[in-house]
Amino acid sequence: MKSFPYSRQWITKKDIKAVTKSLTSKLITQGQLVKQFEAEICQLTGAAYAVAVSSGTAALHLAVLALELDSFTGITSPLSFVASANCILYSGGKVKFSDVDPVYHNIDPLGFGKTLTSDTRLLIPVDYAGHPCDWDKIRTIAKRQNLFIIRDACHSLGSLYQGKQAGSGDWADMTVFSFHPLKAITTGEGGMIVTNHAQLAEKCQILRAHGIIKDPDRLSHQPDPWYYEMQSLGYNYRITEFQSALGISQIKKLPMFIQQRRKIAEVYHQELGGIKWIDLPREAVHCRSAYHLYPVEINYKQFGLTRKDLMLALRKNNIFTQVHYIPIHYQPYYRNRFGFNLGDFPNAETFYQRTLSLPIYPKMKKKDAKFVSQCIKKILQIK
Ligand SMILES: *Cc1c(COP(=O)(O)O)cnc(C)c1O
Repeated sequence: MKSFPYSRQWITKKDIKAVTKSLTSKLITQGQLVKQFEAEICQLTGAAYAVAVSSGTAALHLAVLALELDSFTGITSPLSFVASANCILYSGGKVKFSDVDPVYHNIDPLGFGKTLTSDTRLLIPVDYAGHPCDWDKIRTIAKRQNLFIIRDACHSLGSLYQGKQAGSGDWADMTVFSFHPLKAITTGEGGMIVTNHAQLAEKCQILRAHGIIKDPDRLSHQPDPWYYEMQSLGYNYRITEFQSALGISQIKKLPMFIQQRRKIAEVYHQELGGIKWIDLPREAVHCRSAYHLYPVEINYKQFGLTRKDLMLALRKNNIFTQVHYIPIHYQPYYRNRFGFNLGDFPNAETFYQRTLSLPIYPKMKKKDAKFVSQCIKKILQIK
């Protein structure tokens, strides 16, 4: 029986060939393919610089570090993967959350006002489910308050805002992508920072390889042939050549991948639209979502069952749904350490109570999405 996960990568024979070929070259880490992958992401997004790293989390960490902030507060969305907030803690900052809007579930620019304090230096808005944030408003507020913006675009590679790709650099100081298998394209594990600022890109480059510098022009004295210097505290966040080979091969398919995801979303719109007590993802006029997720909101009570009942009944049909996300401030670590409470961010929490992410991935067929929709309708007894 066919099974339907909420997401799944699509690796082709061509991808495998590209990876295999890269494995026979002399360098299998930090060679030409890393540079080529970075160049292709620049070309796609329109950003001037790109730095490929070992994960989206590493990309977020380095992006925050590159800003060289001292005792600062960073604000992100409570409705995200934990990495969006953790990167602030890694870098010695204080985390605050600002609630999402009830329609697109992205951080609400109107809510920042009461969250801002004098030490707030950084915003990390997340394009939830692949739908761009209200970037014009976010940029305006950030400029006025002198805040840096790191765009967590781990869901939104291939999305458009006012016709521009995520990562274009018009709205954020840096944009971060993930190439985890469930994201728009994959390198196994992998991530990327893109920016229009040469200095920030250079800092990320140095920090991804231990903070070590070999360029003779940048060393403190004329070097001996073996000489290098560690000038800052970096990490090993390098990506490999063979991961980059996969990335280069995958990025060619990104337009098709996004188109396929949008086709599946369209089927769900048709099959589940207009049903009372079910709300579907919406798309703002100036936005094109990448549909990383398809989170529906259901008022389970009205159908006489719980979310767990629905999830388990779907599982019997080999349909595997998921919930994105348990709000970050609900996590024991955040609650115990920082005293966050239930009720702190009502929009994120209400959404969390109702949401369910339906299967959506490029290889999914229209008839698969119809099958999923019909199963949902059957279980909820909708005629
Ligand atoms: C996946 C994801 C990350 C982390 O990316 P990894 O490559 O898994 O480290 C960060 N933020 C968001 C919103 C994500 O979905």
